[in-house]
Amino acid sequence: MLETVVVEQVKVPKKIDHIGIAVNSIDEALPFYVDQLQLKLLGIEEVSTQKVRVAFLKIGEAKLELLEPLSEESPIAQFINKRGAGIHHVALAVDDIEDRLNELKQNGVRLINEKPVPGAANAQVAFLHPKSALGVLYEFCEKK
Ligand code: ZN
Repeated sequence: MLETVVVEQVKVPKKIDHIGIAVNSIDEALPFYVDQLQLKLLGIEEVSTQKVRVAFLKIGEAKLELLEPLSEESPIAQFINKRGAGIHHVALAVDDIEDRLNELKQNGVRLINEKPVPGAANAQVAFLHPKSALGVLYEFCEKK
């Protein structure tokens, strides 16, 4: 009985790692986040797999991830064109991302990334399809 509980605990996402927010321009968005909300900027980097520039802001144990498209083919550019800037995804910190993806796939959950891809901050990331997640785009994120 105890063993079952322990095994299931391992699979539970550990926390909300970050919330992704699509912005037209990080430079234009930062004054609001830093000067008005008073959040601390942790860093800015480019993520070539997603054709975006990202800025992380610390908020407790979690972060906000501002996503600026670097090209019109970026999924973020397509998102902004369709729906405007705003909340884009919720990232859950998980262990054993590949096992979790395989399990979801076996259970019929649609995935955007069936294998993890390199994300920001040296994490391995994968997105679940919002059609299988009641309209929310979830990202799994595993830090090495
Ligand atoms: Zn993210």
